[in-house]
Amino acid sequence: MTEKNLSDLFLDTLKDIYYAEKQIYKSLPKMAKAANSDQLRQAFEKHHEETEGQIERLEQIFELIEKPARGKRCDAIEGILDEGKEIMDEYKHAPALDAGLLAAAQAVEHYEISRYGTLKAWATKLGNKDVVRLLDQTLSEEKKTDETLTKIAGSAVNAEAA
Ligand code: FE
Ligand code: FE
Ligand code: FE
Repeated sequence: MTEKNLSDLFLDTLKDIYYAEKQIYKSLPKMAKAANSDQLRQAFEKHHEETEGQIERLEQIFELIEKPARGKRCDAIEGILDEGKEIMDEYKHAPALDAGLLAAAQAVEHYEISRYGTLKAWATKLGNKDVVRLLDQTLSEEKKTDETLTKIAGSAVNAEAA
């Protein structure tokens, strides 16, 4: 029996979010295309670009810990993104489409915030300052994106859905 430690757990979770970010990167253009409001579309487009940088940051982290950059299937993000697809199908051209897309996107951001928060805490425990700094940069972007989506939800989008 192997004694798995916090470094193993960190690496497994890093692979999880690496897989998740790549799936998110593929989904965001579809969500942008589906969005009715320009504001929401622009938010998705902006975050698509940011996500590319986040994937690069994760690759830097793999390098820093001297492990190959490899993803590990994340069932949670598959499920969250599937729900988003369902909204896009079932609410196509409907007034509530953007409200549904916002909810789906915030579920994604909350998953990421949870993962990056945990990874940052573990990297701090493991004493890897460079890794903490990289994780913190991405965590801030995810939180900011979540706030932007909250603002959009509070403005035009949900009013239109009503
Ligand atoms: Fe991300
Ligand atoms: Fe996961
Ligand atoms: Fe994100």
